[in-house]
Amino acid sequence: MQNTHNMTLRILGARGSIPVNGKETAQFGGSTSCYQIEACGQTIFLDAGTGLINARPENDRISILLSHTHIDHLLGLPFFAPMFSGQAEIDIYGAKRGDLTVKEQVERFLSPPLWACTIEAYPAKVNFIDAVYPMQLGEVEIEELSGNHPGGASILKLSLDSVSVVYASDYEHTPGKQRELAEFAKGAALILYDGQYTEEEYLKRKGFGHSTVSEGLRLFAESGAKRLVFVHHDPFHSDVMLTNQEKELTAAGVSFAREGEIITL
Ligand SMILES: [Zn+2]
Ligand SMILES: [Zn+2]
Repeated sequence: MQNTHNMTLRILGARGSIPVNGKETAQFGGSTSCYQIEACGQTIFLDAGTGLINARPENDRISILLSHTHIDHLLGLPFFAPMFSGQAEIDIYGAKRGDLTVKEQVERFLSPPLWACTIEAYPAKVNFIDAVYPMQLGEVEIEELSGNHPGGASILKLSLDSVSVVYASDYEHTPGKQRELAEFAKGAALILYDGQYTEEEYLKRKGFGHSTVSEGLRLFAESGAKRLVFVHHDPFHSDVMLTNQEKELTAAGVSFAREGEIITL
């Protein structure tokens, strides 16, 4: 999928909050947050939303980085193909939240009575790791900026040599945080940014933990990043609406994430 020393990112799911389906959302896709990064033989997933169901990683050794454990970011895990393979070893990284380890957070949902079994019942070997950033996965460095989202969420930066991807989903802007994020994302090859709301919608959704397209554009200009892709599309935003919003974007290198899209960095 890639040569040594470059990163490839595949968008497996960019829908926010809850999966949707139907012809109105087929073009941008209805699967929830999941991004597959291939870098120097490492397979790293950002979040485990329903997009993960369509992933077919070539490696048996897999890392999943969870920005946080809201269920739209976990729903794909119980149907992730390698979970059913005795050869697979899956490391799931996420921050402790409150008193809960990442394993305890995931098991709130993936255990009876909300699910038939715990993760331990699957054939794959799954390791839960309470992430402490910065950390290294092979040659990929991972840094965190704590975001602004109900219950907390990590903004993650993955860097290989001098090429960085910043994943800022489930993030609500504040003036202070936008300054920190612009610094954190300085010169990044790609920013994945939470563009869930229009300005008008945001007025009614303050405190929900998501941002807007116009805030994303300001951040993009300030950061000097090369590319900005809006993610976490609102479940009520149809292809027609997203296409119209995209047409209004005049800055080069800005688009809305489409499920299935591959970005080489
Ligand atoms: Zn979410
Ligand atoms: Zn969330």
